[in-house]
Amino acid sequence: IVHGITEFIDQDTEEARVKYKKPLNVIEGPLMAGMRVVGELFGAGKMFLPQVVKSARVMKKAVAYLQPYMEAEKAANPSARAQGKFLIATVKGDVHDIGKNIVAVVLACNNYEVFDLGVMVSCDQILKKAKEMGADIIGLSGLITPSLEEMIYNAQEMQREGFHIPLLIGGATTSRLHTALKIAPHYSGIVDHVADASLVINVCGELLDPERREGYQKALKEKQKRMSEQYLNAGAQLTPLNEARAQKPQVTHNKETALQPEFIGTRVFDQITLEEIEPYIDWSPFFWTWELKGVFPKIFDNEKYGKEAKKLYDDALALLNKIKIQKKFSPQAVVAFWPANGVGDSIEIYEDERRMTLKAKFHHLRQQVKPFRSLADYVAPKDSGLEDYMGGFVVTAGSGVEEYSLEYKNSGDDYNSILVKALGDRIAEALAEMMHKRIREYWGYGQDEKLSSEQLIKEEYRGIRPAPGYPACPEHSEKETLFHLLNAETATGVRLTENFAMTPASSVSGFYFSHPESKYFAIQRVGEDQLRDYADRKGLELGVAKRLLSPLL
Ligand code: SAH
Repeated sequence: IVHGITEFIDQDTEEARVKYKKPLNVIEGPLMAGMRVVGELFGAGKMFLPQVVKSARVMKKAVAYLQPYMEAEKAANPSARAQGKFLIATVKGDVHDIGKNIVAVVLACNNYEVFDLGVMVSCDQILKKAKEMGADIIGLSGLITPSLEEMIYNAQEMQREGFHIPLLIGGATTSRLHTALKIAPHYSGIVDHVADASLVINVCGELLDPERREGYQKALKEKQKRMSEQYLNAGAQLTPLNEARAQKPQVTHNKETALQPEFIGTRVFDQITLEEIEPYIDWSPFFWTWELKGVFPKIFDNEKYGKEAKKLYDDALALLNKIKIQKKFSPQAVVAFWPANGVGDSIEIYEDERRMTLKAKFHHLRQQVKPFRSLADYVAPKDSGLEDYMGGFVVTAGSGVEEYSLEYKNSGDDYNSILVKALGDRIAEALAEMMHKRIREYWGYGQDEKLSSEQLIKEEYRGIRPAPGYPACPEHSEKETLFHLLNAETATGVRLTENFAMTPASSVSGFYFSHPESKYFAIQRVGEDQLRDYADRKGLELGVAKRLLSPLL
């Protein structure tokens, strides 16, 4: 277990079963003892997530082997003696679950009974299951910002239904501050943010110990109150929208910046091989998924976990090879160029080169702090008379990612199940990089580009590909327009959930801007004035717009 070796697990488990008389004794004896060592080493920073997940796989396989014997004996469910019951789910409208799955494994390793409801789980389903199983803790996960709203709703419903159990919040866009400021006030029980998988055991330990829990809750509530007050007192100084617009950066537009691409409209790529995509993979984020911080390939020299990183990488390459040979993934891409001009903070997209018919509009936001940027500044304004263009794309590693991942999960192999998804994400991001390179060529300025993979990852080329939901364009519903213009669902099989998450999860979408001055920036907050302006521009009721912009308000 400590070394994560499954090779002889059936033989070893059989030997233990005979020696320890009862299958349950094997679980509670040597298997648990092994997991305790793993838990201690992990807690002490001497073991890392990939190893923990591999150790859990050994445990799981051994328990699976013992299962028929236990059923025969009608032995008590081993989990009856669990530390506590943990219900975990990715909230409604969100499909991302790598982090959630890792947390579930870490908890199970530490003798928690974990019930994982999966992805896109409605509040109803979560609370119903929580009552049914008598959950001690609920953990909610989400990656995209609309999930933050969903979490608030879950907290409100827990309050309304009279729950008292702790609510844990995790996932990429979640934060301590958001949890304190926006979620915790809705629920009188504990609402705590767990920044990463390695912290969850400590938090649960505090929460489930009746003696420590009270002190923890008191300290937490005070801390959250202080954080909220500090934030509200600091009250970021936002410049009124009209002043921000008046002071916007002067982006130069001329014949050199407004380039005509080789084609107009969409182009679908459905014969892409993983071999083509592989050189574009940025491996660093792959290690971050496993909480191994560092930059590829230097990470292999890391004193503490370089060796583990290398093993993980070798496992990933072997699996990727298998995926290639068995054609488990089916990468798809659709890209487009459109005639476009800026009108205020929006971008108009025209039907064709004559620019007579408006086809669609992208609505961007503007920073209300210096330097007052908006993506709309990167296409020539309509009144300049310049004919400019922008592009868009959706790429995916395909639905095979989830199917193949599930195959492993069902066979009790969480390690490979998570690896498959992490590889799916890498392939999707690499495909986005690869298509962007082609786009620069179609646009006429990328042919002479001679950039190494490292330089591509560092984005040393001209132009950007901002992704809706990311900081320069943080409002997710614009993906609807993008998907519509690209006919993306038909072209790639990717569709949007009710909260604008892309499914399959291993997908990337975005805009293309070619302007040499274009760069990524962040819109972190907008004022009430911009909220009203945005609602007007999009023709939305104020309440709807408020919900869409909520994380920025
Ligand atoms: N090489 C990385 C790329 C992902 S992060 C990987 O393989 O994971 C970088 C991408 O996120 C950019 O290419 C862009 O598409 C998007 N992005 C980054 N910062 C952004 C911002 N401020 N606004 C909008 N999109 C952004």
